Amino acid sequence: MTALRRQTVFASLDPPPAWPATRGRPRPARLDTELDALPGVGATLKRKLAKLGLETLRDLLEHRPRRYESAVDEVAIAALGGSEEVAIAGEVLNVSSRRRGRLKIVTARISDGTASVAATWFNQPWLEEQLRPGVHVRLRGKPGRYGFDVKSYDVGDGEATADFAPVYPASEEIPPKRLRTLVGHALGHVADYFDPLPAELRERREMPLKRDGEPGELIERYRGALPFSLTPYQEQAVREIDADLARTIPMQRLLQGDVGSGKTVVALYALLRAVEHRRQGALMAPTETLAEQHFLTIEGICAELGVTCALLTSASPKKVRTAALSADVVVGTHALIQEGVELRDLAVAVVDEQHRFGVEQRKALAQGRAPHVLHMTATPIPRTLALTVYGDLAVSEIAKPPASRRPIVTRWIPEERASEAYTRLARLLREGRQAYVVCPLVEASETTLARAAEEEAERLRRAELREFKVGCMHGRLKPDERRDVMARFKARELDVLVATTVIEVGVDVPNATVMIVQEADRFGLAQLHQLRGRVGRGGEQSYCLLVSREKEELTETAVRRLESLVATTDGFELAEVDLDLRGGGQLLGTRQHGVSDLRFAHIRRDRPLLEQARKTAQELGAATGPLVDEINALFAETDSGALA
Ligand code: ADP
Ligand code: MG
Repeated sequence: MTALRRQTVFASLDPPPAWPATRGRPRPARLDTELDALPGVGATLKRKLAKLGLETLRDLLEHRPRRYESAVDEVAIAALGGSEEVAIAGEVLNVSSRRRGRLKIVTARISDGTASVAATWFNQPWLEEQLRPGVHVRLRGKPGRYGFDVKSYDVGDGEATADFAPVYPASEEIPPKRLRTLVGHALGHVADYFDPLPAELRERREMPLKRDGEPGELIERYRGALPFSLTPYQEQAVREIDADLARTIPMQRLLQGDVGSGKTVVALYALLRAVEHRRQGALMAPTETLAEQHFLTIEGICAELGVTCALLTSASPKKVRTAALSADVVVGTHALIQEGVELRDLAVAVVDEQHRFGVEQRKALAQGRAPHVLHMTATPIPRTLALTVYGDLAVSEIAKPPASRRPIVTRWIPEERASEAYTRLARLLREGRQAYVVCPLVEASETTLARAAEEEAERLRRAELREFKVGCMHGRLKPDERRDVMARFKARELDVLVATTVIEVGVDVPNATVMIVQEADRFGLAQLHQLRGRVGRGGEQSYCLLVSREKEELTETAVRRLESLVATTDGFELAEVDLDLRGGGQLLGTRQHGVSDLRFAHIRRDRPLLEQARKTAQELGAATGPLVDEINALFAETDSGALA
């Protein structure tokens, strides 16, 4: 069957002694060309570039942008206002300059026909020359103290205010704008990079070439890889994150969304934005189970995208930990912030269930590296309170879960009719669904709880759930055992997971559509809501069956808790009920140190008042005048806690 041998060269079955060169082949040697070969580079500029370590075309092409400028809206001058970064365009009416201490300020009045504004530049005195009356300018910046504070600008036909422009590390002698132009010239030579990867492998793994690692491309593939499109709320959150990432100050954003609203998808988006810039993203979760869950979810999609992903917990062996540090995306627990853990190049950090971490722990993640931080929480903090508590921390909210969801049907079933709950469970299991059975919450050690869960699993295996495969999940399992159980449940090798509250957060198995909570009256409202959030994650109708003692035997608050869970799946409403039942001070739990210290106000009743208080506080923050020291002293403590 020799005829089937691939033809390699026309009319010959054997490869030629040497491959003829193609015209478009890469010529790596050309990358060593010195920079004065580029238009506009003379001896002086060449010397200045050398000081930045830029001597050849290769150096210039490998000069990594620090970040990318994102798109901003261009607005009419008459419509200026707010504090968002925007672009304006118009003509120079007049220009002047002055000094203020060591600051040199150039001011030009710009008009676009709708209105005029005084645009200010700091410490760029040479601009006075260029900004002649009648010259057309496009300015990017934001309304500031002196009119419009200019961040970047074009005079005449320039394009420096362009959207998505790369921002390169520059020096005093060479402005970023100049570097952008030079890199633009050098980019023509990018095809001269020799890629050592065989074409077949590249194709199979869909790996990018050096020359097409294009910004946004990874994100595009990520969106394409998701089995759904983002909801408008997710899109909004993503836009807000993009805007934050484009700023020079690190992001501090709270992503708030009820259980199952789809925060993880948004978090991964933020992490991949870091990876897209060849940097690192880290996700920190409060428990090993949750970290492992996130890892299972994220790892799959990362692998699809050719992004490396690693799990780092205190249980990881040293070798694994060391390797994890250089992964593109690192998922972990507190282990991420322990002494001696040096992440390669952290750019975006996500803190999941942030209220479960202390202020100090959240700070430690950012210590000395100033990454962009996205704090996530499912604990439904009423928006007013979130704002009051976090002050300037920006808040994104996923107010509604994906539309494909059906509200979870919740039933409250007294103990002696518990068998009905199991009958319903069995019926759904036979239809191919999966289920959770949550064991009673008792004041006991983790070990006692674990044993109780094991015993309950064993009992159910012999009784109600005889015909099904039943696994057990609790806090005393070793990490790899736990991972194994979760992986088997995900893979549908197990029908039922009997568990303690370790599954309260993060566990994401859309095919699991039923949950039975035993002795539900023992749980707190927020906790039950979190637990219930483990079902209702796919398109199928889901059920939550709350089993408790007879109503007559329960306390009044327990009755109200269970009744409100039956009445609504809206986390916001439940949070308000919870507040009523427990009083304002405790909403966030004891772990959120020093945050909710409202002594006189009632969060729900006094909502307008709190809103007002927050506004006033913000105004005071910007105040100048005789009382400024007193005001600063008053807010000093609040700020450090609230913004961490
Ligand atoms: P959260 O972290 O807010 O509790 P997740 O991010 O775990 O929620 O999302 C819950 C489930 O919803 C997951 O199975 C996820 O794949 C799915 N999901 C997320 N976004 C969407 C969407 N836009 N459309 C459909 N399903 C989604
Ligand atoms: Mg989650």
